[in-house]
Amino acid sequence: MSRAVLPSQPAVGIDVGGQGVKAVLVDDQGTILKRWSDRDASAEGRSVDGVISRVAAAVAALSAPANAPLGVAVPGFFDTRRGVVCSSPNFPTWRDVPLRALLGDRLGRSVVIDNDANAAVAGEAWVGAACGLRDVLLITLGTGVGTGFLVNGALLRGARGAAGEGGHLVIRPGGRLCGCGQLGCLETYASGPGIAVTAADVWGDDAPSTAAGVFEAFAGGDPRAAEVVARFTDDLATGIAQMLHLFAPEAVVLGGGVAASMSRFQERLEARLRSAALPTSAADVFPLRVATLGGSAGAVGAAWLALQCPRSGSK
Ligand SMILES: [Zn+2]
Repeated sequence: MSRAVLPSQPAVGIDVGGQGVKAVLVDDQGTILKRWSDRDASAEGRSVDGVISRVAAAVAALSAPANAPLGVAVPGFFDTRRGVVCSSPNFPTWRDVPLRALLGDRLGRSVVIDNDANAAVAGEAWVGAACGLRDVLLITLGTGVGTGFLVNGALLRGARGAAGEGGHLVIRPGGRLCGCGQLGCLETYASGPGIAVTAADVWGDDAPSTAAGVFEAFAGGDPRAAEVVARFTDDLATGIAQMLHLFAPEAVVLGGGVAASMSRFQERLEARLRSAALPTSAADVFPLRVATLGGSAGAVGAAWLALQCPRSGSK
């Protein structure tokens, strides 16, 4: 049976990471029509001009219709009200870059920008692990700990777009030095590198150098790995509990490279979280979910953001 073809508003979503650009053309139901990516971690490729050229190349390669709005996700600290990337750990030369205006001028189309964790939670709530939900916490456990909060169907942004930095909740006052300058941030314990530091503390010189190595040893019954996983899940549960107490979401989605090993630590993390969080705040979040869009979440979510304000965000 043939289906009637309904008019569809396409959008372009682009996730600009430190290693490469991922781009998608989607329809207004979140179906990916086309993908494009590049890999470029060079200093030139990560300069402001370099990134703008690569975004332009992505839009051209996707043959995006002229009416398709563009959403761009970038890791870093934002003033989304002004469309400015204030700073980014992945783009160390960037300071107060008016990315939204620069891209709008170059590409002549409507542009929205947001940070990668915000875009990822939007993507997962649109067509991913939290599809259709309106109160969602996404935690990305990778080289850092990124968090995105969807609250009553809208992104939590704060006055300037800087809200939702759950990775910088201090869970151990006076603890490890974080890249943000604070001591004891969740990120320094629950990121991939943070887990590796804990492994070195517990193990000594022959510790696994990656989180994946720790989880593999844990699955093999290594008691040192069990100690590292115990500390990691305690720390992560402490951080998540604080976020649940503030937002009491319908779902918690874990993404990023560390979450790929979720089956190894989910049971213990959930047990720790049940004891760390108020039952009413955590009532809806079990079982914890694993992100399903993988590396596409940021790009798909960026496209969703573009569709939310297709005509208002170009300047
Ligand atoms: Zn920090």
